[in-house]
Formats: sequence, structure tokens, C-alpha cells
Amino acid sequence: MSRLLAGSATDVGLVRANNQDQFLVTDDDLFAVADGMGGHAAGEVAALTAVEALAGAFRAGERESAALLAAAKQANRAVWERAGQNPDFFGMGTTLVAMARVHAHLVGATAARQEGTGTLPEGTEPAPEAGSGDLSKLAVVHVGDSRVYRFHDGQLSQLTVDHSVVQELIDEGRIDEREASVHPRRHILTRALGVDPDVEIDLIEVDPAIGDRFVLCSDGLCREVTDEQLAEILARPADPFDLANELVRAAKEHGGSDNITVVVVDVVEGEGSVPGVEGAGEGVSLGSGRLLLGTGENEEPDTVQLPKAGPSGAGRLAQARPAGVAEPRKRARLITPRVVGFFVLLLVVIGVGVGGIGWYARSSYFVGLRSDHLTIFKGRPGGVLWFKPTVAQRTGVTVAEVLPSRLQALRAGQTEPSIGAARSYIRNLTAEANQARRVDNPSAPTKTALAATARVTADVIRR
Ligand code: MN
Repeated sequence: MSRLLAGSATDVGLVRANNQDQFLVTDDDLFAVADGMGGHAAGEVAALTAVEALAGAFRAGERESAALLAAAKQANRAVWERAGQNPDFFGMGTTLVAMARVHAHLVGATAARQEGTGTLPEGTEPAPEAGSGDLSKLAVVHVGDSRVYRFHDGQLSQLTVDHSVVQELIDEGRIDEREASVHPRRHILTRALGVDPDVEIDLIEVDPAIGDRFVLCSDGLCREVTDEQLAEILARPADPFDLANELVRAAKEHGGSDNITVVVVDVVEGEGSVPGVEGAGEGVSLGSGRLLLGTGENEEPDTVQLPKAGPSGAGRLAQARPAGVAEPRKRARLITPRVVGFFVLLLVVIGVGVGGIGWYARSSYFVGLRSDHLTIFKGRPGGVLWFKPTVAQRTGVTVAEVLPSRLQALRAGQTEPSIGAARSYIRNLTAEANQARRVDNPSAPTKTALAATARVTADVIRR
């Protein structure tokens, strides 16, 4: 059995005015990177819409490759529909790479061998059973030029093939990788999410091995850092969070000409899923907070899941579970169904209580600071009991972009009823600061103006 450890990092880079990348790391082993495009705030909106729609659709579906594919299609729809609602969003789109742990199927096993991505040395993994519940595969979906790499046994391989004009030229043998990196049309995609009501999405299945390291990234990383440099960094014995930050740092050292976003996922020994080291853990699930109930001397214990705490669940319960609830395990072996019934009822009561507290603790959002970036947290500032706030969205907005007078409120945590309200609060803060700056210096170009001049809507052209 294996489990996944994830770490992520995103950075605006050294040239761009705003960060149009988004990443997603959830406790149920779904990871994604989206690189938005479009003028004004459209790129951000496209990328965020895509990862939110993906997370929502995948959580509601089966843990299957097909479900990840369907969720990506729904993300495409969501961006397309959003683009139609607002003239500012016309023509916006985004790349998407997403990876999720899914059930193994015999049918999928053959598809996995495509392009040599799903191969493993003989005998390193038990044969997958059809429909087995072991979640032993990784499914990857992909549109655009964000990438997924696999670092296996000291070897780096790129699992995805870019949907870009330069990739087509490479495939036709007309240019090589080095020419591609400086080609005038290197920013033009042949496929993107959200520019059409339907899109062709690539699906790749992988049999992961313990020790594998996966990297999901936007082109801001792989355009700056060579495969050799990437492999050299991935070979270091660091945790995924440090590696993600190290990769971002390397991309900035080599120019940082675009936004850089990286999610590193390690396959490690162990069972179940654990919270990512760092990430946008929206709707962290309670799946790891399991209680075991013994049912007999020679039987496997049943697994009972606590009711979800609140609309989208809450994390961290596993560590903080009340000590008493393991007790039924011992007694259930000896005692009558009635007593078992009592404990089940007790668990339900505890579950409902935990759910209520969890709902209160997790039902709101607040805007705070994390390493100088305005960050939207889910939860209450400071946390409630063992429900600690989690990062819902890390924005590219830094403290330098808001008025100093707002910093105190941000340090304390500005509570907002929804993630939408939290975003508007941040938008208002930056607008307010921009306004003040324009009053000070009327000739200074605003970010919006910069974005507007670079805006291209007719084609799928990246800025
Ligand atoms: Mn990019």
C-alpha cells in the first residue's frame, strides 16, 4: 500500500504583474495546476473556475479514471459558461493538468501502457483486480502546455505532451526542443480549457511505485528549467513542500519570465491519504478519521466513517479524535447486539456533535496573510478546538499591493461569509490601493491597463 504526500508553491515570477496560475491539493488525493489566459482578471478567473469545478465534480463522482476525465470536461464547461457571462471574460481559457488516485481496473491497465508511461519493473506491484478498492492507480488528465513529470528510479520522464504549436513542429521534426524554447509562436496553444463548449482531453494512467515523485507544473517552470536541472533537484532527499519551493526558486533564478506553479507529489509507504504538506485544501475530507469496530475474533473489523462535518467536511480530526471512541472495539466482541447498537448510537451522537462544531468552525472564510501573500483561509481565525483553518486559496496579491492601513485587519484575519466574498474583499483592497497610487502618480500605468494591452481574444494565444 502507498500513500501520497504533496507540497505546492506558486509565484508570480519576475516579469508578470499578476499570477494567473492556480493549484489544487486536496486531502482526497486530487492535485491540479491550471495556467489561465485572458486580459483583465480573466486568466485568474479561468484558472480558478477550472480547478474549483474539477474538485467539485471529482469529489461527487467515483474514484475512477473516467470520473477524472468527466470532471475535467465539466471544468471546461464551467470556464466556457463563465466566459459567456461577462464581456471581460470573452475568450478566456486555461490549461489544466490534474492527477488523482483512482481504483485499478483491468481495462484501464492496458490503456495505461500508452506511450510507455505506465510501465513498471516486473513484479514491483501486485496485479490489479477489476473494480478493487485499493486506489492503486494514478490518473492524469491534461489540456494545454502545463505538464506532469514522473521521477522514477532516478529517471525523469514527461508524462504529458504539450498541446502547442511548437510541440507540433517538434513532432514533425521541423524544430528541436532548444529552438522551441525561443520560437516566436511558443505561447500558442492548440488546445485549451474553456474556449469551446467541448474539448479533447488526454488521459494517462500510471502504476505508481513507492519512491516515485510526480511534478505538476505550469510552463513557467519547464520553460526556465531544463530536464537535467529538474532531475537534479528532484533527486534531493527533501520533502515535497521544500522541493516545490526549490523548483520555483530555480525558475526565478533562470529568468522567472512567467508565473511559476508547482505541485510535487511523493508516493510513500503507508496506507490511506494524508493531508498535503501545504496546499489549497478546499473541502478537506474526513475520510482519514476512521473508527474501527470489532465484529468477531476471526473477522476483519468493519470500517465506519464518521458523518461529514459540515457542508464540505473538515480535516485534522484524525489526530485529535477523542480518546474514548476507540473503546467500542474491545467490547463489541463480547457483548449483545443491543450494546453494539448503543455504541453505534453513541457514535452517531458524537458524530453529530463533531459535525455541528465542525460546521461552525469551517463554515466561513477569512482573509489573512501567509508569507506576505493575501491568502483565503477556510475556517475561523485561530481555529476552533481542533479545527484549524486551511488554505482555500493562495493569491498572488502581496502586502505591497494593499494600503498599509489594511494590514492590521489582515494580520488578525478578516472574516467573510463565503469564498466569493473573501475574493471581493481582496479585489476591493487592491482597487483601493491602485486608486490611491493613481492619485499620487496619475501617469503610472495600472495593472489592468498592462493586462488590457496584452489582451488577445481572437485566438488561443497566451500572453
Ligand atoms: Mn504560464
